Amino acid sequence: MTIAFIGLGNMGAPMAANLVKAGYVVHGFDLDETALNAAAEVGVRAESSAGAAVAGADLVITMLPAGRHVLACYAEILPVARPGTLFADCSTVDVADARAAAEMALAAGHRAMDAPVSGGVVGASAATLTFMAGANAADFAEAEPVLSAMGRRVVHCGDPGAGQAAKICNNMILGASMIAVSEAFVLGERLGLTHQALFDVASAASGQCWALTTNCPVPGPVPASPANHDYRPGFAGALMAKDLGLAASAVHAHGVSAELGLHAAQIYAAFAEGEGAGQDFSAIVNTIRERS
Ligand code: NAD
Repeated sequence: MTIAFIGLGNMGAPMAANLVKAGYVVHGFDLDETALNAAAEVGVRAESSAGAAVAGADLVITMLPAGRHVLACYAEILPVARPGTLFADCSTVDVADARAAAEMALAAGHRAMDAPVSGGVVGASAATLTFMAGANAADFAEAEPVLSAMGRRVVHCGDPGAGQAAKICNNMILGASMIAVSEAFVLGERLGLTHQALFDVASAASGQCWALTTNCPVPGPVPASPANHDYRPGFAGALMAKDLGLAASAVHAHGVSAELGLHAAQIYAAFAEGEGAGQDFSAIVNTIRERS
C-alpha cells in the first residue's frame, strides 16, 4: 500500500516515520521545508506539493493544525487523487468540519474517515497513540492495520465524524475533571490536608479519575506526573484550550446544557493566553491557587 502523508509537524513527522519503519512507502508533503527535509531523513519520500504526494497513493493521511487547513488541503488534492482513494484525517478538528471534509471527499468519488488521536508527541514517537475512528466498516477494516502501525489502540467509534465526536467528549471530561481535582487540592491545602492524604483517600474512593491518579496536578503523589517536572507537557494547555473550544462549539451547535464543559473551555482559554499555553494543562492548579 502506498501512503501519502500531509502535515509532517510535531505529530505527523514521528507518525510518518513509524509507517516507514513498518515497511510502507510514504510520500510526504509539508508547507514547511524544514519539516519536509526532517521527514526525508527518516525515509519519507519528500514531494514538492500535496498534489504530487497523493497522485499514486492508496491512502491519504492528513495531520494538520485545524479544520480550515484540512478543508483547504482537500480542495487541492481531491481532484488529483486516484478515484476511490481513502482519505483519513488524523488532525483534531470541529465535528462539523470533519463531516464536511468527508462529504467533499465522497462527492469527488473518494472514501473518507476521521481518525483523531490522543497520546501526544510521546505517543506519536513510540507508536502508542490511541486512534478514534469515524468510518464505515469496510474503510475502517482497510485503514486499521496502517493506524495500528502508529498506535496501540484503534477504536471504531461510528460513521465519519464519530472519531472527532469521541475525542472532544473525552477531552471535555478531562478538562472539567482536571479543574475539579485542582480545586479540591487547593481547598484541601486551606483546610490543612496534605496532598498525600487527599490523594490516598480520593484515589481509592469516588473521586478517583485519570486527572488525579495519572496526571496528578500537585507534585508528590504520582512521581511521573508533569507536576514533578516543572509542568512540562504532557498535554499542553494550548491543546486543551483548542479541544475544549471545539467541544464548546459542538455544545452550542447541538443546544446541550453543558455548563461545566463550557466553563472549563473559558477557564482553559484564559489559561492558554499566558504561559499556560506551553505548560501541561495540570498547571491550572497554580492559577486556582493564585486566585484563591
Ligand atoms: P504542528 O503545527 O506541529 O504540525 C502541523 C503541520 O502541518 C506543520 O508542519 C505545518 O507546516 C503543516 N501544514 C499546515 N498546512 C498545511 C498544508 N496545507 N499542507 C501541508 N502541510 C501543512 O501540529 P501538531 O502538534 O503536529 O498537531 C497536528 C494535529 O494533531 C492538530 O490538529 C492537533 O490538534 C492534533 N494533536 C496534537 C497533539 C500534540 O500533542 N501535539 C496531540 C493530539 C492531537
